[in-house]
Amino acid sequence: MGNKKEQDFVKEITPMEEDFSQWYTDVILKTDMVDYAPVKGCMVIKPYGYGVWEGIQRVADRRFKETGHKNAYFPLLIPESFLKKEADHFEGFAPEVLWVTHGGNERLAEKLFIRPTSETIICTMYSKWVQSYRDLPVLINQWCNVIRWEKTTRPFLRTAEFLWQEGHTVHATEEEAQEETLRMLEVYRQVAEDELAMPVILGEKSEKERFAGANKTYTMEAMMHDGKALQAGTSHNLGQNFAKMFDIQFLDKDGIRKYGWSTSWGISTRLIGGIIMVHGDNRGLMMPPRVAPVQVVILPIAFHKEGVLDKAYEIKSELAKNFRVEMDDRDTYSPGWKFNYWEMKGVPLRLEIGPKDIENNQVTAVRRDTLEKFTISMEGLTEKIGEILDDIHQNMFNMALKNREEKTYTTTDYEEIKRIMKETPGFVKTMWCGSRECEDKLKEETSATIRCLPFEQEQLGDTCPFCGKKAEHMIYVAKAY
Ligand code: AMP
Ligand code: ZN
Repeated sequence: MGNKKEQDFVKEITPMEEDFSQWYTDVILKTDMVDYAPVKGCMVIKPYGYGVWEGIQRVADRRFKETGHKNAYFPLLIPESFLKKEADHFEGFAPEVLWVTHGGNERLAEKLFIRPTSETIICTMYSKWVQSYRDLPVLINQWCNVIRWEKTTRPFLRTAEFLWQEGHTVHATEEEAQEETLRMLEVYRQVAEDELAMPVILGEKSEKERFAGANKTYTMEAMMHDGKALQAGTSHNLGQNFAKMFDIQFLDKDGIRKYGWSTSWGISTRLIGGIIMVHGDNRGLMMPPRVAPVQVVILPIAFHKEGVLDKAYEIKSELAKNFRVEMDDRDTYSPGWKFNYWEMKGVPLRLEIGPKDIENNQVTAVRRDTLEKFTISMEGLTEKIGEILDDIHQNMFNMALKNREEKTYTTTDYEEIKRIMKETPGFVKTMWCGSRECEDKLKEETSATIRCLPFEQEQLGDTCPFCGKKAEHMIYVAKAY
């Protein structure tokens, strides 16, 4: 009986092998993560999607605080003149800036822009706050929305307005700024790998892909299920570029006035898209337990029977002390329908409680990652569920890593790179001379880009596959979202 409906459920999601892009759209809409907004390029993040963002905020914010940062808030609107101060920054962001020109019917004396990132306003404030070496380092983070008027958009992955955090720091020395830049990249790695079960490759961006106004941009790159890359977070060493243009100067211990050294770093709601594309399958979402809005769902079975609902609620309130738990006691849906519904939502662990379970002092459990069904004794239930969620996290990480390894190729033959990008997209480890010409040629001819110069360099060959000259760096090449 329930069967027909169960099949219908899965039918509403296009199989990922057939059309990955349609699969993504089906999944995010069907699972109530997001809805399209009336304004092009914008999205409405629905409660289930926002719950994931709250999870990401929780695990990232804890680490920002542990590494000495504090949160603050700066204005959404910035005067035009600020944007023009740093030439590279202006050039990079001007095409994506959204302008505010009127207050009511009156034209503003100076146009304002909606922040696409906040270096300009934050550095303006820092120039006031930083006077002496005693004022350093400045370690501030902001959680906010930004707008980048992007041409092609897709929910979570690339939207005109998105939510993010942007850390902005100032240091007394170049070394400290570099340390900070790498420290926050490592924090991002921990968020991705230890919390989202998303394996990442760390490295430096090429000059072409560098943040506008930065000396160095570091990135973490994740592989999606279809073999494409996602830039999942970036950390920038801004050198003294912004300090000089915005006049962040301090009197050092030696009595000399010096410019500060600054950094900035960000992760965004794009990570939610990453979670979906790394872990999802043809049944729908698979939520990494540590940020899952619902970690455990409880389904009472045959709950018209005496005591079943009471027991289910008793277990819920016990588990709610340690986990994010939801009870589905709707009697308007069959159990089979509910199984599929919560599988599609990607809840890591489903508990079923029926008369037989109560009789045996147990619950029946089903894992979302393996779909394995087993019973757990009521004794030590909390502890056991904690262990299972940890195991699900680890297993999801391993599955994602396996996918990445299977779709990572090593070659220094350009024809081979072209063939791979056409036939079996994935990451290609190869060599590069370092020239912009070769980077552009790769993009033009394969639509793949240099994702990063990984920290873990290997000498795969002596010549650049694109021009035949001497190879300087090992790179990861991939098509990207
Ligand atoms: P950036 O300031 O350009 O380095 O961006 C910081 C991070 O924000 C990037 O690494 C992306 O993960 C994310 N990001 C950039 N642009 C967008 C966008 N249009 N939509 C969602 N996330 C974005
Ligand atoms: Zn070359």
